[in-house]
Amino acid sequence: MKVVFVGAGPGDPDLLTVKARRLLESCQICVYAGSLVSPEVVALTPDGCELHDSAGMTLEEIEAVFVDGQQRGIDVIRLHTGDPSIYGAIREQMNVLDGLDIEYHVVPGVSSFQAAAAALKTELTVPEISQTVILSRTSGRTPMPEMQELEHLARTESTLCLFLSVHKLDEVADELATYYGAECPIGVVYRASWPDQQVVEGTLTDIATKVEAAGFTKTAMIIVGQALSRDLPVSQLYHRHFSHGYRNADSEGSGGSS
Ligand code: SAH
Repeated sequence: MKVVFVGAGPGDPDLLTVKARRLLESCQICVYAGSLVSPEVVALTPDGCELHDSAGMTLEEIEAVFVDGQQRGIDVIRLHTGDPSIYGAIREQMNVLDGLDIEYHVVPGVSSFQAAAAALKTELTVPEISQTVILSRTSGRTPMPEMQELEHLARTESTLCLFLSVHKLDEVADELATYYGAECPIGVVYRASWPDQQVVEGTLTDIATKVEAAGFTKTAMIIVGQALSRDLPVSQLYHRHFSHGYRNADSEGSGGSS
């Protein structure tokens, strides 16, 4: 018997990995994060599958489901939204499984920051502008380690993807404007890849008003940085004077060989 932590992806069941889909379709016991995992994904489990919504469960109650699976020799699927490694609180569950001597592994999923980047039709890394992507959040009941407070991250001018923070967008946009500039582009995607997805784009100055008008206060991804600008330098990768391992530059080129 084993537990499989499975990434449910951002919402659209077509964004599940083939492996995740296969596991769900043959699953007999599933613990899923009901607050975020799309019902369409949960619906892939067969009739008769035992479903437990972890939204209303304590760690001890989740443990009891693992133990029950162990006693009956039935694998348990632990379904997490997006990719389980990001704000999935999987470490504490793995520690419990270690204590019970239950084997487990992880099937990755498409994270919501990726689905949001797709919805925004943006690249997160742009040459000479941003070569770093930071996945973070603002503090809530979970405090931020001091050196990871927004102002420290903002100083790097990297592309910032903020989870769990849209309810504080006003504050966030204000603070970021000091470092990124008031006109810096920002995109906020509500329920990326769900049928009711909403995309709001703006600048650090007007985004809070626009999102307030759109009327959502949770399940949204915030992406900030100059990388979102439409007017950026062209990368070397496809430049005709640039040679690399798979293509030679044209005759006026850099003279590089490969
Ligand atoms: N493991 C998940 C993140 C869980 S934390 C992942 O990899 O995506 C929950 C936060 O993720 C939400 O507050 C929201 O910021 C973001 N989120 C999850 N699903 C989302 C979606 N479909 N669209 C936009 N943001 C989403």
